[in-house]
Amino acid sequence: MKAAFLTGIREIETRDTPEPTLRGPKDVMVRIESVGVCGSDIHYYTEGRIGSQIVRFPEIIGHECSGILTAVGSSVRELRIGQRVAIDPLLACGECDQCLAGRQNTCRRQRFLGCPGQATGALAEYVVMPARCCYPVPESMSAAQAAMVEPFAVALHSVRLASLNPGAKIAVLGGGPIGLSVLLACRAALKDVIWRVYVTDLIDERVQAARQCGADWAGNPLHEDTKAAIEEREPLGLDVVFECAGKQETLDQGTELLKPGGALLIVGIPELDRISFDPHLLRRHELEVKNVRRQNDCVRPAIEMISSDAVNVDRLVTHRFPLAEANRAFDLVASYGDGVIKAIIETTVDT
Ligand SMILES: [Zn+2]
Ligand SMILES: [Zn+2]
Repeated sequence: MKAAFLTGIREIETRDTPEPTLRGPKDVMVRIESVGVCGSDIHYYTEGRIGSQIVRFPEIIGHECSGILTAVGSSVRELRIGQRVAIDPLLACGECDQCLAGRQNTCRRQRFLGCPGQATGALAEYVVMPARCCYPVPESMSAAQAAMVEPFAVALHSVRLASLNPGAKIAVLGGGPIGLSVLLACRAALKDVIWRVYVTDLIDERVQAARQCGADWAGNPLHEDTKAAIEEREPLGLDVVFECAGKQETLDQGTELLKPGGALLIVGIPELDRISFDPHLLRRHELEVKNVRRQNDCVRPAIEMISSDAVNVDRLVTHRFPLAEANRAFDLVASYGDGVIKAIIETTVDT
């Protein structure tokens, strides 16, 4: 089969490699159709690492994926060949204290699809997964929508962790695919109540997309003082800030925008290995800081929300590439070029 290998910093090569085989009776084989390029993939592409997670080249990455089942193990009852599935890329052990406590997302022995050294990624024609990681999607759902389930589930998990109340005043700092998904998830969660959400991003197309996705206000800090603009509209401060940019500036801005008792959720992967906070502000305002790790139990609701049009993730998918042009997709996302939000690699399209 063909697979896109990360062979060096900013280098991807499509190579032939043996097809994987089912390892056990509970495994399934998936003919991959769509793979979204994630910000975490870009860290591996441009830096070869995320913190202590280091790529040993060559490596197949990619985890936001969907495909069609082409083989199912002998003890798989709930899935059948030919079904389109959204894949949960987390391979949790199911046995550790975290898994037993229902926190598979922090499983102590977890492996993750496309995570260096853990499990071969999805930028390939076929992957083998345990059946429990594969969720059938309705027939009406496209392969790209099914690939958006994973990032949307992360956003939904973030919104659930925030326990928003009616009337909440919210900011999303960073309007990339995850930030915009957080916005969509907030809107869906609070659809019948009064609330306000503000979005900021350094890219005009993303600010525009935020408005289209239902932000009450969106702005670009390169053109205006977005913090002052939000403070003018919300003089008492915000209840919740979702930091989706991974930058020290937005972490600082997030805590400064919160009202006393407010909560900052760190959803973005910080660029640096250390981040800092003003302890006096955190203490005086009794601010809560929560980290978001992947998602937990949000795949099924994400499928339900996307397939029922409760949220429209289609507008986040701005670019599509065949597998052989994966490097172009990665370069585009890494450079934030051409108004890209989510680039999808379609492994079934020939070049
Ligand atoms: Zn991702
Ligand atoms: Zn576990």
